[in-house]
Amino acid sequence: MSTIAEPPRNARCPCGSGKRYKDCHGALQPPQVAGVAPLLEIFDYARAKYGCDMFVIDSLMRLGIATDDYNGQEKAVFSLIDWTLKHGVHTHLVAHARKAEKGAGAPETEDVKGASEIANNAANILSVWRNRRLEEEISQADNDALKKQLAEKPGVILNVAKQRHGDFEGKIGLWFDQRTYRYQSSHDRGQWDNRRYPISTERDAA
Ligand SMILES: [Zn+2]
Repeated sequence: MSTIAEPPRNARCPCGSGKRYKDCHGALQPPQVAGVAPLLEIFDYARAKYGCDMFVIDSLMRLGIATDDYNGQEKAVFSLIDWTLKHGVHTHLVAHARKAEKGAGAPETEDVKGASEIANNAANILSVWRNRRLEEEISQADNDALKKQLAEKPGVILNVAKQRHGDFEGKIGLWFDQRTYRYQSSHDRGQWDNRRYPISTERDAA
């Protein structure tokens, strides 16, 4: 993650209050975490201090909610939704997929692991699925022509499994670019966008 630069302590606060930064938003302190309620306090802080409107939670399990605690997961999801709606922001919850049968393809709504309320109450569900079988076929291809032909098939499927307020649900084929750690929308490397974000976390340029 990149760091957001702090304004000088005695400069005017960027919020436009006219006060010094140290006497205004600079005085806000991040609260301590563990569980959904403290997490939402941190979110309140990030929203107030930095105007953040995009929040990502890397799974409920990280907040100490057990994989089989369905009631806890349900409660957590409802408080996240309440908070998100109240502030008019976006909250992304990383969920895991149930173990799929071999060859099952990209996960769908019903494949979201945990309480069914997670998938039922999400406005949008996106799954990113790596086609490992194709990766294997490419690595085992015994000639370059076949390798090239297989590499034209998308190695990653982005499945828009649910979009409550939109008009598109369906699958989009993508190609993963190992060099920039980005997904590309064409198999044609000549069309790949080679920019890297953010500069400070650039992977080795080799
Ligand atoms: Zn301020």
